[in-house]
Amino acid sequence: MTETFHWQNAPSADFAVIAEDASHSLSPRMHNAAFTALGLAFRYVAVNVARGDVGFALDFLRSRAYRGVNVTLPHKEEARAWCSEFINTDYPEVNVANTILLDSRQGFNTDTLGFLRSITPLGLKAGDQCLVLGAGGSAHACIAVLLKLGCRVSLWNRTRERANETNERFSGRVALQKEPDLAGINLLVNATSVGKIGGELPLDWTRSPSDLVAYDLYYAKNPTQFLQNAAAQGLRAMDGSSLLVYQGAEAWRCWGLPEPDVNLMVKEVQDALAI
Ligand code: NDP
Repeated sequence: MTETFHWQNAPSADFAVIAEDASHSLSPRMHNAAFTALGLAFRYVAVNVARGDVGFALDFLRSRAYRGVNVTLPHKEEARAWCSEFINTDYPEVNVANTILLDSRQGFNTDTLGFLRSITPLGLKAGDQCLVLGAGGSAHACIAVLLKLGCRVSLWNRTRERANETNERFSGRVALQKEPDLAGINLLVNATSVGKIGGELPLDWTRSPSDLVAYDLYYAKNPTQFLQNAAAQGLRAMDGSSLLVYQGAEAWRCWGLPEPDVNLMVKEVQDALAI
């Protein structure tokens, strides 16, 4: 468990991850290790913020001379609303902030480039079939990246209305599924929060082709039910630990920091998950 602080008791530090419950976050460990490796005397902490308090918390951290924050579940929309400027030219359909430069009140979304980097080893080609589960901010990031790669993207979300809104956001370029169907899918992305908060996904794994890659954006010490089901089917499965690293490395760029040692960040995350 990561040590957390309520935002009103946030200690003197330079960077923070904010979440409703940041105790699961490996960001402090990962970023602090990368700072130390480069001889940067920065401190990165985990800060809990209740829904509705994000603007107050960001104002407070800014007044305490924090330089930047990462934002995670469920605060990315509130964080975006706090920003005076949102810099996201590559993927304009994505309108939630997971990285903030506090002094200038600039927001960024690094889940997009982080996701892109995490799937690069898969060698997806234009025309490949991808199914995204979920219609929240991280699903938008994945869909934007996959469409830009030329993949054909389908979407299933528990709440149909939200799936429709997502499709409108992407100008109808997403095929909506009433029930998720794994037939013919090359990449299946679980961008729901089921791995974190629990629940069942209505997936019939027996319909998946043998070369389907199952990617759960969530990371945890133990594989999620989604990843366990994929592995039981003999499928290649990956969790969100590489996304955590790559979106974090991209955040350094937004904060005006030098290039971090990504291999070291990967090792820190792997070590933390292995304990
Ligand atoms: P949001 O809260 O924006 O979206 C959550 C999504 O999960 C919605 O589509 C929601 O559907 C769906 N959902 C929630 N509960 C259920 C359920 N019981 N059954 C089916 N669907 C459900 O979350 P985010 O998009 O921000 O994050 C999604 C996941 O991605 C989280 O687990 C998060 O930890 C992970 N993530 C990991 C990152 C990393 O660095 N590894 C980076 C970003 C995200 P509905 O619309 O019906 O409510």
